[in-house]
Amino acid sequence: DTIGANLDRAVAAWPDREVLVDVPSGRRWTYAEFGAAVDELASALHACGVTKGDRVGIWAVNCPEWVLVQYATARIGAIMVNINPAYRTHEVEYVLKQAGVSLLFASLSHKTSDYRAMVEQVRGGIPQLREVVHFGDPGWEALLARATPDATYEELSCDDPINIQYTSGTTGFPKGATLSHHNILNNGFFVGESIAYTEQDRICIPVPFYHCFGMVMGNLAATSHGACMVIPAPSFDPKATLDAVQQERCTSLYGVPTMFIAELNLPDFASYDLSSLRTGIMAGSPCPVEVMKRVVAEMHMAEVSICYGMTETSPVSLQTRRDDDLEHRTGTVGRVLPHIEVKVVDPATGVTRPRGSAGELCTRGYSVMLGYWNEPEKTAESVDAGRWMHTGDLAVMREDGYVEIVGRIKDMIIRGGENIYPREIEEFLYGHPKIQDVQVVGVPHEHYGEEVLACVIARDPADPPTLEELRAFCEGQLAHYKVPARLRILDSFPMTVSGKVRKVELRERFADG
Ligand code: ATP
Ligand code: MG
Repeated sequence: DTIGANLDRAVAAWPDREVLVDVPSGRRWTYAEFGAAVDELASALHACGVTKGDRVGIWAVNCPEWVLVQYATARIGAIMVNINPAYRTHEVEYVLKQAGVSLLFASLSHKTSDYRAMVEQVRGGIPQLREVVHFGDPGWEALLARATPDATYEELSCDDPINIQYTSGTTGFPKGATLSHHNILNNGFFVGESIAYTEQDRICIPVPFYHCFGMVMGNLAATSHGACMVIPAPSFDPKATLDAVQQERCTSLYGVPTMFIAELNLPDFASYDLSSLRTGIMAGSPCPVEVMKRVVAEMHMAEVSICYGMTETSPVSLQTRRDDDLEHRTGTVGRVLPHIEVKVVDPATGVTRPRGSAGELCTRGYSVMLGYWNEPEKTAESVDAGRWMHTGDLAVMREDGYVEIVGRIKDMIIRGGENIYPREIEEFLYGHPKIQDVQVVGVPHEHYGEEVLACVIARDPADPPTLEELRAFCEGQLAHYKVPARLRILDSFPMTVSGKVRKVELRERFADG
């Protein structure tokens, strides 16, 4: 199916159910109203000369217009290019040129009022960028005024490219994954099916729409099951998120682990009524067992699910299910989704590893991207001739088919010939009473090659743990070479907009002392 045809079916099935709520502005849409608004915008874009295959950029924080653009471009077959709201002139210019964007929608938060100047600055150097429309401006109204009631569009195929989504940029410069209707619509559907979404569900989405977590696991999962998307704030704010859950009686809440940690640590956390929640998704980076347990017990999310995926695979390939027991739901990323294959291989030889031993995770199926946009060499480095996507993540498949993510190959620490997975040490340190959040990275050491550094956010900033305390805590529990040799106390970690810690930045910052 195409995304447009799928939306038509949803509108016909649930015309009067709510589909979209923007908490900051109080605006709300039913499926019927939303379908009409999407048609209006699609027709207006078409009147401006946007046709199948054209690239339409969107550089915006979360807002309802973002969702309208997503479905309106899909309706015409234009390729939406998601641009990271944290980008500045240089990066935006790169993406606009690289993707050949001809029309750009923009709207950042009030905090970055200079972004209009940035748009004007880059615009001059990009001749193919014909038009820039800021949401809410007279230009937006003028665009909508061009809609005609009976627009017709070119015929679409579900294998057409529909979206260029950039990866988070956790390990380097982001790469633009080109995805089809088939890729992302199916993934949204199956993710929603594993958490049993129905038209009764209301999903609180504090993760950015620019990233696949928001736009596929959020928006597409919602509309393929008749559920409602609730936008708590333009960008992540723990208090606004819990306010939205309470006020809109949300049944599902999304977040990367750091977001759930921030919510659980709000001073007035206990005063929130979260009884409407039943489920949600934690994903994007390693989900600490302690945090998962707290989410289940303290946030009323008995059925919360962990997803594992990556932008290049639409994104999800593994997921825990609601009938999995607590150990599997907190300690693994679940089993493979329908119609997807996974295997764990020796990264050096490509030979499949036996169950129970670590290797590089590879995935195959409908979800693998068409390729990186205009970068066939990079595509060939990740997707092999058999269409297997090499994820760059180390994983173990248990005997029972559940998969554990051990860490990224790039984050592995090699100390005196021993392979160390930071995740294992982080999981252990989460149990220390003075630690709120912790990241473990390798830093250069003249004798061992690399040495273990723990970067810690203290639960009480006035009383941070000392290195001696941490070492004593690990004594007799972890092998001596895994015990942190160095400690840094930080107020916060360097993050991507999708909420992931950029370990690469921690490594650089603390490389020499
Ligand atoms: P870049 O590729 O630009 O360095 P990125 O890999 O973070 O950034 P994304 O596509 O947003 O970009 O994220 C995919 C990665 O996120 C996976 O390869 C994996 O390392 C990590 N990840 C996702 N879900 C999980 C999970 N449940 N547990 C552990 N890691 C996860
Ligand atoms: Mg990646």
